Amino acid sequence: MAYAAQMSNTSGFSTRAIHAGQAPDPTTGAVVPPIYATSTYAQDGVGGLRAGYEYSRSANPTRTALEECLASLEGARHGFAFASGLAGEDTLLRTVAAPGSRFVIPNDAYGGTYRQFARVHARWGVQAQPVALTDLDAVRAAVQEQPTTAVWVETPTNPLLGVADIAAIAEIARAAGALVIVDNTFATPYLQQPLALGADVVVHSTTKYCGGHSDVVGGGLVTSRDDLAEELRFHQNAIGGVAGPFDAWLVLRGLRTLAVRMERHCDNAELVAAFLAAHPRVTEVIYPGLESHPGHELASRQMRRFGGMVSFRVTGGEAAALEVCGRTRVITLGESLGGVESLIEHPGKMTHASVAGTQLEVPADLVRLSVGIEDAEDLLADLDQALAG
Ligand SMILES: *Cc1c(COP(=O)(O)O)cnc(C)c1O
Repeated sequence: MAYAAQMSNTSGFSTRAIHAGQAPDPTTGAVVPPIYATSTYAQDGVGGLRAGYEYSRSANPTRTALEECLASLEGARHGFAFASGLAGEDTLLRTVAAPGSRFVIPNDAYGGTYRQFARVHARWGVQAQPVALTDLDAVRAAVQEQPTTAVWVETPTNPLLGVADIAAIAEIARAAGALVIVDNTFATPYLQQPLALGADVVVHSTTKYCGGHSDVVGGGLVTSRDDLAEELRFHQNAIGGVAGPFDAWLVLRGLRTLAVRMERHCDNAELVAAFLAAHPRVTEVIYPGLESHPGHELASRQMRRFGGMVSFRVTGGEAAALEVCGRTRVITLGESLGGVESLIEHPGKMTHASVAGTQLEVPADLVRLSVGIEDAEDLLADLDQALAG
């Protein structure tokens, strides 16, 4: 490998973010891993690979650098980078599922994850049972009821920011012979380390905080299980939903500043949540950092801080929520999250429109904020004027 990680996993988080998988280029000394825009590699005689690379769907040095860095940040042995979070999820499900496999999924799962289970994998006989993962008795009952391939955990969830107890669910799942998969997109490896809490595989949409600048779509899978990693490597290549070298380079550039960005996202989100909680037009603020949040104590144990996502409900129902979304000036109306710029959206009509009419439907008066790293005073002033109408 051109960029063998020279970091031990005992180095600090930011040191690994900046150096893991990213030793200077052996040929030129370039400090930043180059974008290897190549599909194939010259061989010294048939099968004589110079650095282990033969074709870029199988492996590409820029992607390897990202995969090693992502694995290191999650404290994992193996990382895999994909063209999107959903491409990674698809590869994972094709790796661990077979017709008849049954999954327990969050009853407020990310809409795209739910849709993939319900409308793509369901056609091949894969079942998904939505369960409130905050209710451990319900999780236990669900995995004991029928053989379960895996419990799919998302915490905090999107957009209702439910907090699930990863360690407790891992124990329940393990006792039932089920895998534990954790979508760590919202928390990022900086705030939460699912493998250390007993998860088998971590899923990322690197489109969000890992990339962090709203300029790339990508996905990642990490695991420390050698058996699963071997299967995932086979499926990553056999299915081919890989991250291209430029996309991998952008995500890697984002990862280097993940820790400082997350600190600022958390600082700003705490201020925004406190501001909204005191606002007369806001009926409920959903943020794990607030003591009023049912998962606050658990989040305090399980996460380093509470993240940059804040959801809230307004007086006046759906019409009022839509109006607030349309009135912000600094905060951009748009889907997605986790970038340096603040985004506002109406989950019911935007990100979660695909789950309308299902168990996963979200309240019509709900507004979701991805709190960016702008100056907090500007964000508070913008929300103030948007709520004033
Ligand atoms: C965005 C997102 C995904 C899907 O990732 P894409 O990169 O959009 O394919 C999965 N899970 C969560 C929690 C997300 O926010």
